[in-house]
Amino acid sequence: TYVISLPCVDVKDRACVEECPVDCIYEGERTLYINPEECVDCGACEPVCPTEAIYYEDDLPEDMTQWLDINANFFAEL
Ligand code: SF4
Repeated sequence: TYVISLPCVDVKDRACVEECPVDCIYEGERTLYINPEECVDCGACEPVCPTEAIYYEDDLPEDMTQWLDINANFFAEL
């Protein structure tokens, strides 16, 4: 799955939402989240993010790895 990380917080540009072919990017209070159950790993969202907040899960920088769980947990709580 692709993951949205810290640079999205309080930005929520939404360019990724427009690109996603399966509409799996959802809006929370302070950031956007990718639903890992629905993401098809197409990669379309990653280059359009103006804050470079989006990474493939295996490519998350070391200080952003917790965002894999943060994205998943948003949907677990629904
Ligand atoms: Fe949507 Fe593709 Fe990004 Fe997954 S990788 S969130 S399917 S645009």
